[in-house]
Amino acid sequence: ALMITDECINCDVCEPECPNEAISMGELYYVIDPAKCTECVGHFGEPQCVQVCPVECIPVNPEHVETQDQLHRKYLNLVALA
Ligand code: SF4
Ligand code: SF4
Repeated sequence: ALMITDECINCDVCEPECPNEAISMGELYYVIDPAKCTECVGHFGEPQCVQVCPVECIPVNPEHVETQDQLHRKYLNLVALA
């Protein structure tokens, strides 16, 4: 899963781009729910939030480093729940 750092300027452009609705406004800036972020696996070839973020503040979450297989399984689980 990816994460948003405190460099986020709350520009709002990433939130609507997320295919998993993993992005929401946190206490001070936007946050990504690691349970919902597949790094866009299953939907797009590249993380959409990273593509649109003007300040490049969306790295991999070091507490949620996942393989492509794990991300794909998360995607399948999210689809099954939807
Ligand atoms: Fe959403 Fe994709 Fe960004 Fe994860 S990488 S938060 S799934 S847009
Ligand atoms: Fe923050 Fe980047 Fe999302 Fe804008 S696109 S709200 S700066 S994380």
